[in-house]
Amino acid sequence: MNLESPVSDLPFVGPAYAKRLKKLEVETIRDLLHHIPRRYLDFRKNVSIKSLRVGEEATVEGEVRSAINTFTKQGRKMQIVNITDETGSIEAIWFNQPYILSIFKKGSTVKLAGKPSFFGRKLAFITPEYEAEFAKRKGVHTGRLVPIYSETRGVSSKWLRARVYDAYERTADELNEFLDKKILTKYKLPYFKNAIKDIHFPINFESVETGIYRLAYNELLFLHLASEKRKRDRLNTTQAHELSVKPSDLNKFKKSLPFTLTKSQELAIKELADDLAKNIPANRLLEGDVGSGKTVVAAAGCFIAFANGFQSVIMAPTQILAGQHYETLKSLLGGFDIRMNLITSSTKKGVLGRADVIVGTHSLIHKNTNFDKVAFAVIDESHRFGVEQREHLMQKTEHESIAPDVLTMTATPIPRTVALTAYGDLDLSVLTELPKGRKKITTWVVPNNKRIAAYKWIDNEIEKNKIQVFVVCPLIEESESEILAEVKSVKKEFEKLSKKFTGRKLGILHGKLKAKEKDGVLDAFRNKKIDILVSTPVIEVGVDIPNANIMLVEGADRFGLAQLHQLRGRIGRGEKKSYCMLFTDSKSVTVAERLNALRSLNSGFELAELDLKLRGPGEIFGKRQSGFPELKIASWSDIELIKKTKNLAISIANNPRKYPKTTSYLKHQQKAAN
Ligand code: ADP
Ligand code: MG
Repeated sequence: MNLESPVSDLPFVGPAYAKRLKKLEVETIRDLLHHIPRRYLDFRKNVSIKSLRVGEEATVEGEVRSAINTFTKQGRKMQIVNITDETGSIEAIWFNQPYILSIFKKGSTVKLAGKPSFFGRKLAFITPEYEAEFAKRKGVHTGRLVPIYSETRGVSSKWLRARVYDAYERTADELNEFLDKKILTKYKLPYFKNAIKDIHFPINFESVETGIYRLAYNELLFLHLASEKRKRDRLNTTQAHELSVKPSDLNKFKKSLPFTLTKSQELAIKELADDLAKNIPANRLLEGDVGSGKTVVAAAGCFIAFANGFQSVIMAPTQILAGQHYETLKSLLGGFDIRMNLITSSTKKGVLGRADVIVGTHSLIHKNTNFDKVAFAVIDESHRFGVEQREHLMQKTEHESIAPDVLTMTATPIPRTVALTAYGDLDLSVLTELPKGRKKITTWVVPNNKRIAAYKWIDNEIEKNKIQVFVVCPLIEESESEILAEVKSVKKEFEKLSKKFTGRKLGILHGKLKAKEKDGVLDAFRNKKIDILVSTPVIEVGVDIPNANIMLVEGADRFGLAQLHQLRGRIGRGEKKSYCMLFTDSKSVTVAERLNALRSLNSGFELAELDLKLRGPGEIFGKRQSGFPELKIASWSDIELIKKTKNLAISIANNPRKYPKTTSYLKHQQKAAN
């Protein structure tokens, strides 16, 4: 057995358990050893039964006096075990776990650990941790800091503890140190092997802390090392076309635009143009808040590619967005003789001629498109694409080791430190300002008792100002069945509002509609044939309907702040003043505080930083948005550690000989992977 062996090599782990562990992202022994406890119960204190206090964690030792099966008043099966020491006795209670009786044999000595609470009028342990044969073992479940792991159905912490113990016993010798001594000393890091041990079998909380610190260090270091490697591989193995442009030609493009570029658009275009002129493939991330005007930067790239006789490809995550990009680019590039195509899953085969700029969803990868002269590729809202789709586009557009220059665009306000880690092999441009003349959106957190009044006000606004309204229903994550639930909740809301707004035309939009149906609904909304559009968060990114001035969000607490900000970016695009109303059923003060931040903060970046602090990165990006590495141990908000490990990764990459241990470890890994 080694670290890469499947968990099913462990005793007591059959296929059923292996399947359950997979849900916890534990597939190998290494994964299991890196399954970090969420917290620890402090069961170090052995006390007498008499001195137990309600709510105070403790371990007691005593003799089993009785163990019986009985029933609760509601008829549930219940197990009651009485434990006695020289100072008194206490009952331990379980529900529906008849096997308890076979563990607690009358007359045997056992340990119980937990927080006593009142059961009826007596102090009792409700489903405590226990050690029935502790004399034989060394006390895995009691009398120490006892780890509590993330669990899943059928996999308890108790079960995991025993498996982790077995795994560690068998493979500890393989947990070789891969950092050189001077690094360990410099950063006060414990040995890797000790860190693993300290996390699962700590002697005190300090050792937990140093153990976790070391594993977080490892996690970030390997992320950085991987992106350094990708960057070097790219620069060493592929070439790009040198797309140069005369300043006077680029000015022609700028002059043709219906607006003046903002300072940060100018800068981003300059950075992109510099990239394009080089013979190494560019890989730039363009970040900018919704409405900051990223598309025109992409258009400038397309223009430069065109001026050099090459094609450009723009890939967007949804049909709606692809369609919109197509329209926008057509108008931005309209002053030049540039041929454009739109390719989505509904595009028919063979109808398309050769184009200079090809816009589409990921179907453009699969369609038999003529990509023979692509020199510039744009990926919009890249976090919504998987790594494979990205790779696929690269493969499709690469010719004889000449790769396209790539611009990735995102409205997800990824804090700089995070961007440099997650996308460490990318160069970064940021649009920091919105075009002039944008109106601030007024945001309200609306308590439920003002709902009726809010509806009245909205109805009146529609009547008086002829504006349109988005109603966004709560986000439900992940699985197919949950998407169906989401659709159901939208339909319900639609029916409810149809009764409330009898004089208005309502529309409905959700992810289960066919692309054509979606387009139909959005066109109707755009053409003012719908007053109120009830939608799932599918409208999230990019949809541009200037006459929609009010947005009402249901279940606002379920969204991350940055996500709400993105949603809110759908309004405030026209002449009239816009309003965003957030509804929530939550009575929690923290939720109210969090949502209220949206009233004062108008920058996606600030909101993202706040989210990062309050809820962690998963919440900024949303679980549906894949392609973003999730940290298991380290935290995106630990900027210090991110920087330290980044610096080390760069020096290792620059000077591998200076770090013999790490270098030989990486070589070894590389070999194993091939
Ligand atoms: P996003 O960054 O959200 O993708 P878009 O590129 O879609 O933003 O731009 C949003 C809107 O702002 C578009 O209608 C675009 O034409 C307009 N726009 C972009 N740049 C400017 C500018 N410098 N001045 C005025 N309007 C602009
Ligand atoms: Mg956009």
